[in-house]
Amino acid sequence: MFVGHYAVSLALKSVEKKASLGLLFIAVQFLDIVFFPLTLLGVEKFRLVENFTESSHFELLYMPFSHSLFAVILWTIAIFVLIRYLLVYKSGKHFKVAAVLALAVFSHWWLDLIVHTPDLPLTFADANKYGFGLWQHAFATYLLEAVLLIFGLFFYMKSTANIEPTSGVLAKYGMPIFVVLLLAINVINIFGPLSAQDTNQSMAVSALAAYFILAVIAWWVDRKRQRR
Ligand SMILES: [Zn+2]
Repeated sequence: MFVGHYAVSLALKSVEKKASLGLLFIAVQFLDIVFFPLTLLGVEKFRLVENFTESSHFELLYMPFSHSLFAVILWTIAIFVLIRYLLVYKSGKHFKVAAVLALAVFSHWWLDLIVHTPDLPLTFADANKYGFGLWQHAFATYLLEAVLLIFGLFFYMKSTANIEPTSGVLAKYGMPIFVVLLLAINVINIFGPLSAQDTNQSMAVSALAAYFILAVIAWWVDRKRQRR
């Protein structure tokens, strides 16, 4: 799953206004942000297979450190501890900021579970892998991610307002426009062909770049609005 994860970011932002939307965008993709560098190092493995499923060209072969349930629980705890105790969020109120960011990390695995083919292990050594395989149905995958994102947008818009009544187009329509952009990107992501130039390295680098660029845009658009 790709853009559907951002539904969780938008919804959690409406729960805890002090959590940065940019960081929430990073947090929901954190497991993939771990996965791709590990593939570049040869620690975790995927193979590009055109139309491996209707929605994806990725055959995900080995990813115990980024995508096993056990690892995900450890990452979730690590992110919570890092933000709650080691970074700037030290007051009691910021318990909730650390909690929503950790929850964002945790959510990734469960949404992946719906769409992945059985490639998600429970532990580092687990031979049994899980995934309900919605990726076999491209249109259903697209629809699920779109519906999630629209729900996320709804909660976000409900909990925020334009900074001033007369503020610019961006404050009013920035986030809906950004969601439309995400939905357009997902058309290419799900229905686009594998190009001859695509390599594991180029896919890893472009995925990582996309995660960071989208997080910066989310942060920037969110700054134009204030919390209700
Ligand atoms: Zn993932």
